[in-house]
This record gives sequence, structure tokens and C-alpha cells, in this order.
Amino acid sequence: MEFVEVKDKVFRRFISREQIDQVVQQIADRLNADYAGKNPLLLGVLNGAFVFAADLIRRLMIPCQISFVKYASYVGTHSSEEVKELIGLNEELRGRHVVVVEDIVDSGITMDHLLKDIGKYRPASVKLACFCLKPEAFLKSFKIDYLGMEIPNAFVVGYGLDYDGYGRNLPEIYKLEN
Ligand code: 5GP
Repeated sequence: MEFVEVKDKVFRRFISREQIDQVVQQIADRLNADYAGKNPLLLGVLNGAFVFAADLIRRLMIPCQISFVKYASYVGTHSSEEVKELIGLNEELRGRHVVVVEDIVDSGITMDHLLKDIGKYRPASVKLACFCLKPEAFLKSFKIDYLGMEIPNAFVVGYGLDYDGYGRNLPEIYKLEN
């Protein structure tokens, strides 16, 4: 499909299923080599990364485990400040080789927070596997150890990424038509 309508907006096909498969396999190949004998713990970031994480883990041929974290935002009790709470991080990270699995890094603010929080649990190592990055929007300096691809600074949906909760089910990635 060249165009899709998600909610009230039109998106054009941007990354095909074949490209996605190729990118996932490249990352999996590197993880299979780098984590042989290390029993890594993959840590997917919900909601978006569930599709990428599911694809990636099925291509890993080494013993590994997976867990998920999520930023839950809610309105605080005082005024209308938004509070972001990270749920799902726990002691299981201690001493483990953690591979954070994320779908997209934009400004990098979310991931920067997460990486700092993960560090508090004293893992043996932390690396980041990310399907795509928007370099023009990136404001932080953390390294993306396993990067699928760089994309322009545009809004994308599909392959787990949503527009207002919709579009995560699309098997390919679509870019907002301007
Ligand atoms: P950051 O903190 O890096 O600016 O934003 C990270 C989060 O914003 C991602 O995990 C994702 O949920 C969301 N996000 C950033 N860019 C896009 C995009 O192009 N499409 C969608 N659907 N979500 C995005």
C-alpha cells in the first residue's frame, strides 16, 4: 500500500517490509556475535518497541531473556503538572548485560532518562539497540550501539509506532504527508 489513512491523517509508505527485515537481521547478527556466552537481558520500551523487540528476539540464536519497561504519564495531584513514572525496572537488572530495545529516538530525552535510571540498578553493561534515529532532532550525546537506520525529521507510524494510539499494527513504516 502506497498510502494509508490513520485516524484523520494520510501517510505515505516510507520503509518497506524488506528493508525492515534487513535492518532487523543486521542488528540480530551483531547481537548474536557480541553476546555469545553472555546471556543478555533485552529490555524493550513499551509501547512502541513491542513489534521490533518481537522481531529481533526471534532472530537471536543465543540464550537471552526479555523484559519490558514503560513510561506511564499521569497528571499530578497538584496543579496540572505531568509526572512521568517509569514502571517495570527492578533488581533483575543487577549484574546483567542489558540491551535496551527501542523503536525510535527523536530528541533522545526519553532514552537519556531511561539510561540513567537503568544505571542505578548496577547492570554489568548497558547497550542500546534502536530501530531508527532522527539525527536532526537528536539533542543528547548517548551512543546508539546498534542502530537500524537514520531517518529525516518527520513523523512516522507503523511497525509499532502510533499516531494517537493507532497505526501500530501496520507492518511497514509510513511517513506523514505534508
Ligand atoms: P524523544 O524523547 O527521543 O524525543 O522521543 C521518544 C519517543 O517519542 C519515542 O519513543 C516515540 O514514542 C515518540 N516518537 C518520536 N518520534 C516519533 C515518530 O516519528 N512517530 C511516532 N509514532 N512516535 C515518535
